[in-house]
Amino acid sequence: MKPSRFNYYAVDSIDAAISLIAQQGEDARFLAGGQSLVPMMNFRVAAPTALIDLNGVPELSNVRIDNDGALHIGAMARTRQLETDPEIAEANPLIAVAAAYVAHTQIRNRGTIGGSLAHADPAAELPGIALVCDAEIHLRGLSGARVIEAAKFFDGVFTTALADGELIEKLYFPPWPEQRCWAFQEISRREGDFALVGIAAWFDMDASGAISDCRLAAIGAGDTPLLLDSPAQTLTGSVPSDALFEKAAETVAGDIAPFDDIHASADYRREVAAVLVARTLKTAWERRR
Ligand SMILES: Cc1cc2nc3c(=O)[nH]c(=O)nc-3n(C[C@H](O)[C@H](O)[C@H](O)COP(=O)(O)OP(=O)(O)OC[C@H]3O[C@@H](n4cnc5c(N)ncnc54)[C@H](O)[C@@H]3O)c2cc1C
Repeated sequence: MKPSRFNYYAVDSIDAAISLIAQQGEDARFLAGGQSLVPMMNFRVAAPTALIDLNGVPELSNVRIDNDGALHIGAMARTRQLETDPEIAEANPLIAVAAAYVAHTQIRNRGTIGGSLAHADPAAELPGIALVCDAEIHLRGLSGARVIEAAKFFDGVFTTALADGELIEKLYFPPWPEQRCWAFQEISRREGDFALVGIAAWFDMDASGAISDCRLAAIGAGDTPLLLDSPAQTLTGSVPSDALFEKAAETVAGDIAPFDDIHASADYRREVAAVLVARTLKTAWERRR
């Protein structure tokens, strides 16, 4: 199928992008990797009147690591770069591992982290990683810049806190302690498909060997990526063990709200979420040991 008629504009700066989209009105869209937007246009699920192409804006592709290990990733960084760049993997290994689950290599070569977050598919990996890592999302619009926590960014299926004409400029990932235990796991029907359910988790331990801090998130288990507070509460203050991980997994049902679709039932997703919580925590712990 072919998209409906639209005007195309290539810009070379953030300022040009945000002033042009404001001029073009609410039916204009930014074009990043095009891996979600263009198929939607071809199916006429989306019919933007203008596309503002961000591919010629070099500042949006910057990746920088601070001395304390904090990671800044420009919105136009490609998923494939997140998967393969050894410096990113060192600064935050969870990003690299989860990026490899996104679609297929050809799609990862074009798709961007900013596009994935703005698109906000509840089963997408990178929004879940931004959430579990407590990333900050830096936005720019005609009215100025603002920063929003990933936990406040996702409003619903394909819906975010982005205002009309607002652009994701970059993501900030806080420093990642070297000793942190972490893992990401998902179940999908075929390799490269969207996850039916996925779980990302990390935990830190204190000198006594007890879990001092942890965070878990689920994808494909509700309208948005979801933080899993109940397993986190179960884990905090206890010494890691398979029994503790199983106990944490039993609490996950109250934190998720999966739905039935053609791929899987809500009941199946609930069961998979519990299995994956235990499995992800065990993998995180085994990696450390
Ligand atoms: C066959 C197939 C399989 C896929 N499988 C997966 C998968 O398993 N997991 C997964 O996560 N994704 C999957 N995807 C989606 C893919 O990861 C997309 O690349 C991603 O969702 C969108 O990124 P993009 O850069 O292509 O954005 P685009 O398609 O260019 O844009 C998507 C939306 O974001 C907006 N946007 C883009 N950049 C910005 C910005 N900087 N600021 C504000 N708004 C912006 C656009 O206006 C548009 O509304 C799949 C896609 C295909 C075609």
